[in-house]
Amino acid sequence: MRTAIISHPFCRKHKMIDDHPECPERLDAIADRLLASGLDIAVQQKQAPKASREHYLLAHDETLVALVENSIPEQGLTSLDGDTWLCPDSLLAIERAVGAGVLAVDEILADNLDAAFCSVRPPGHHANRTTSAGFCVFNNLAIAVKYAQSKGVKRIAIVDFDVHHGNGTQDIFIDDDNVLFCSLFQHPFYPNTAVENNQTLVNSPLPIASDGNDLQEVYLQQWLPKLSEFKPELLFISAGFDAHLEDDMASLKFVEDDYVWLTEQLAQLSKKLGCKGIISYLEGGYALSALGRSAIAHVKALVDND
Ligand SMILES: [Zn+2]
Repeated sequence: MRTAIISHPFCRKHKMIDDHPECPERLDAIADRLLASGLDIAVQQKQAPKASREHYLLAHDETLVALVENSIPEQGLTSLDGDTWLCPDSLLAIERAVGAGVLAVDEILADNLDAAFCSVRPPGHHANRTTSAGFCVFNNLAIAVKYAQSKGVKRIAIVDFDVHHGNGTQDIFIDDDNVLFCSLFQHPFYPNTAVENNQTLVNSPLPIASDGNDLQEVYLQQWLPKLSEFKPELLFISAGFDAHLEDDMASLKFVEDDYVWLTEQLAQLSKKLGCKGIISYLEGGYALSALGRSAIAHVKALVDND
């Protein structure tokens, strides 16, 4: 597939407390692995444009947008919640993290691309309409979904394979029958969302030590039938790689091949259903080597799908 990696150097400027796992080096690990793998010649590399306030307001209340804008410190750090801080340059990163998804939607709807991986930070899937949380300031992916809706895309599916539940994304789309949300996550675990399901919400909790076999079971038994029936026009992925065996943020046992398997399944299904494209957003993933290897294996699986 015609695939792009969308990023921006400013996404490194967002810094939190010393030794915070959600660090700028995460993006370096992915960029380094991209070069080492040789995949850089097969993907387009694009710079994320600057998003604007109007984009944030697609998914967030004005009060949250104003809170974030007014909380940017002149020096030092401001805390938004116990896990999430802003530094003087955070808005520069946020603008590009959101802008990456806007560009991905534009390029896919213009038929210039089939898939995009937004290699950006801060991540987004714990931010809901009114609150930043869990390392996430704005919900980048949710904003891109709303933006795609504003451009006339009717049916959108979101698959979230981060080890943590995508509670912010669920909250934003819970009343929207035109958005199907499928999320797997270690359970019980942060953010401790009550597990609920409905016509367009498929939550797939996994116990500690679940591995690739469990991932395949979730996909084949719970997600594939729903996605096939729903027939999305556009597929989004909240791609967190913190369920990796080597990631000590959590206790699942996925490896690169599992991310490849799921990505291949999603790419093939997307083609079969006539989806316009796939937009994947980096969420978590904190073991730097495993993150780089997994993210690039994920992108390669998109590229290799014909
Ligand atoms: Zn996570």
